[in-house]
Amino acid sequence: MKISFYRWLCLTIGLRRRGKGIRESGAFLIGKVGSTRISKIIFYDELDPNAFKSGIIELEGLGHGKLAEMLKNFRGEVLADIHTHPIGCSTRQSDSDRRHPMVRLKGHIAFIAPDFALNKFLMPKDCSAYLYEGSFKWRTLYDRDFPLKVVIV
Ligand SMILES: [Zn+2]
Repeated sequence: MKISFYRWLCLTIGLRRRGKGIRESGAFLIGKVGSTRISKIIFYDELDPNAFKSGIIELEGLGHGKLAEMLKNFRGEVLADIHTHPIGCSTRQSDSDRRHPMVRLKGHIAFIAPDFALNKFLMPKDCSAYLYEGSFKWRTLYDRDFPLKVVIV
């Protein structure tokens, strides 16, 4: 999938500001239906103001209802989600990440950014990427899976 440099900056700055260096933050990456270009970012707290409160990310049913409504209005679909991990922790999925896909659809992609996205020069290649294969199984995406990963264009 593709993202403009401007939108990538909006994403990483938004994650950094929300996490404040102390907690995880995350967002849905949205494209117009049928497109692989990320043209909208919806941070989880826009869907549920309490999404980040507990330190880990939880979206109540309400948040998903609001997401569905925003997608409908934008004529968009979720291309992927992204969330941050704490400083010094790996960008490997936690058990909780694996058990709670933000979108429970085969083919959904989840990115994990390191160090609460504090690095001002954070690039897509610094983030790990995982493909949801259903039944709470995930596959790690590598550079050779290039079309599924994010590139700045
Ligand atoms: Zn995680």
